[in-house]
Amino acid sequence: MSSADGIPFLDLAGQHAEIANQLDEAWAKVTSTNGFIGGSYVAAFEAEYAKYCGTSECVGVANGTDAIELILRGLGIGPGDEVIVPANTFVATVEAVVDAGATPVFVDVADDTLLVTAAHIEAALTPRTAAAIVVHLYGQMPDMDAISAVTDEAGIVLIEDAAQAQGAAWRDRRAGSWGRAASFSFYPGKNLGAFGDAGAVTTDDAELTNRIRSLGDHGRRLGTKHEHALSGVNSRLDALQAAILSIKLERLDDWNSRRRAAADYYRELLRGTDIRVLHTAPEATPIHHLEIVRVSDRDAVTSALDAHGIGWGLHYPIPCHQQNPFTRFAHGPCMITERAAREILSVPMFPTITRREVERVCEILIAAGQGSPSGTGS
Ligand SMILES: *Cc1c(COP(=O)(O)O)cnc(C)c1O
Repeated sequence: MSSADGIPFLDLAGQHAEIANQLDEAWAKVTSTNGFIGGSYVAAFEAEYAKYCGTSECVGVANGTDAIELILRGLGIGPGDEVIVPANTFVATVEAVVDAGATPVFVDVADDTLLVTAAHIEAALTPRTAAAIVVHLYGQMPDMDAISAVTDEAGIVLIEDAAQAQGAAWRDRRAGSWGRAASFSFYPGKNLGAFGDAGAVTTDDAELTNRIRSLGDHGRRLGTKHEHALSGVNSRLDALQAAILSIKLERLDDWNSRRRAAADYYRELLRGTDIRVLHTAPEATPIHHLEIVRVSDRDAVTSALDAHGIGWGLHYPIPCHQQNPFTRFAHGPCMITERAAREILSVPMFPTITRREVERVCEILIAAGQGSPSGTGS
C-alpha cells in the first residue's frame, strides 16, 4: 500500500479549508486594531462561548491547564485541601491541582466508559475533600446527575475539566454548565482549537469570574491600571485566537455531528468483533474528541496500522498516579485505569474523515486485533 493511501490521525487542514476566507478576514481585522491581548474580540468570544455552554460567564485564559489552576485558586482551594481526580486523565488535570498547592486524590474509572462515576467520588470523600474534578475524557460526559447529587450532598465543589468536551452534553445540558466552574482548552487539536495555546473558564459565578480575571492578569484590581490586589499570573487570551475561535464556534456543532457519524460507523463495523469500543449512555451526547478502541495485542495492531500508513495515538498509556511527579499521591492501584492503559488505542477521528477511510481502519484493526481483550464487549 503506498503512503498516498495513508490516513492521518487528525486532519486539521480539511476543517481550515472550509473557513479559509473568514480566517484571512479575521487576521486582517485584528491586525488593524493594534490590540492583541484582550479587547473586543476576546469579549465577543467570551460572550458567545458562555451562551453556547449555557452559562452566564466565560473568561478567556492562556490554556486549559491554567484554567483549572485559576478555578482552584479563585475558589481558595490550596494547601491542606484534597481534590478528587480520575487516574485516567491527561496529566494536566493533576498538575493543576498540585500547582495550586492542593493534594490530588486519585480514583479509578468505570470499565465501560473509562470515566469517573459518582460511586468513585463518594468512596474517596474525607473531611479534607474540597472539590472533585470530573474529566469529560474523549469528549464524553459521565452521569452528571448522579455525580452532582454526591458532590451536593457532601458539600464539596464540582469542577469540570471539559478540555476534550466542547459541545458535549448530558441530558441536553452542555459541558461547562454542570459544575461550579469548568475549564476548557482550545489547544489546536481539540474539537474547538485555536492556532496556538488558548483556554477558558465557564461559570455562573460572577465573583469567581472577577477573581479569575484578576488572577490571570497579574492580580490587577479590576478596573484599575496600576493596582495589584493579588499576586497572580499572566494567563490571558489573545485577540487573534479569540477571533479564530469565534469563527470556528459557528462550525462546532456541524463538526461534532460529523465526528458522531464517523464514530457510529466505527461502532457498526466493529460490532461483534474482538475490538472493544467505549459505551455511550443514552443520556450522553459525546463529541468524540478521541475515538478509543481496546485491543489485547496492541503492538500487533499498531504495527499493522504503521505498515498501512494509518495514524494512531495512545491516550494515555501511563496513568497519572504512576507518573513520576505524582506517585507520592498514589494510595493504591487503580486497576481499571491500569488495564485500560495497556489496551487503549486512539484511531483516526476528525470531521472530514470519510466512510471509506473508517472502513479501511476497521479492516486493519479486525485483521490484526484477533484475540479477546479482557472484559466484555459493549
Ligand atoms: C488538553 C487537556 C488539558 C490541558 O489543556 P492545555 O490547553 O493543553 O493546557 C487538560 N485536561 C485535559 C483532559 C486535556 O485533554
